[in-house]
Amino acid sequence: MLEVSPVRAFSDNYIWLIRTPADRGGAVVVDPGDARPVETALQQHELKLHAILVTHHHPDHVGGVAELAARHGATVFGPAREQMPCEVRILDDGDPVRLADLGLEFLVMTLPGHTLGHIAYYGHDALFCGDTLFSAGCGRLFEGSPTQMLASLDRIAALPDSTRIFCAHEYTLSNLRFAAAVEPGNADVLASLAATRALRERDAITLPATLGSERRINPFLRCRESAVRAVAEARTGRPLPDPVEVFATLRAWKDGFR
Ligand SMILES: [Zn+2]
Repeated sequence: MLEVSPVRAFSDNYIWLIRTPADRGGAVVVDPGDARPVETALQQHELKLHAILVTHHHPDHVGGVAELAARHGATVFGPAREQMPCEVRILDDGDPVRLADLGLEFLVMTLPGHTLGHIAYYGHDALFCGDTLFSAGCGRLFEGSPTQMLASLDRIAALPDSTRIFCAHEYTLSNLRFAAAVEPGNADVLASLAATRALRERDAITLPATLGSERRINPFLRCRESAVRAVAEARTGRPLPDPVEVFATLRAWKDGFR
């Protein structure tokens, strides 16, 4: 199993630091929006940065990329269809990311919705999915359509239950509050909400999630459940036979949910 640790950045971002199975002194980071906390972590653990994986173009994901790449000579991988802050090895759907010296291999999934060119990295039973899927939630639709985002979430949902979900923000508590509003009778949501509250009270991380758990608690992965559809229909006041409409209703509801 990959050894992955969170590097906190800004108010609620996680930059994931991956230790490599083959080279104990080597590291890879995902979405370094800020170089400084990454430098601190590298120094603390005496690690050399080999590569940087980028999921999408937002500043809180790429802000530290150019500085880290220049200082460490790290190879940067990023999405083919988005503006990147420096030269990157561009990746498209199905491309492999092979870091043979480090014993790492990921498969690239293009997951439009939050942004149009958003990609995720899947491998070693882990998914680094940026701002696409969050624990108990999903990213806002800044560029893509509900149809695109639901298709992207469906692709994630097709991965094995054991997949560990390394998303880029600590949004779990507010997402679970929303999930409980959508499904007040979902015992898994209520149990997760209580457990997450306890973790957040002591400022502990709630990630990674597992896909098996997300299937039970994440309303955006549950648009085809009759209880979720019924709640969305009650909000719109009309039948919603298409899961995309259920998804769009939930997403718009969550955008204004406090
Ligand atoms: Zn973003």
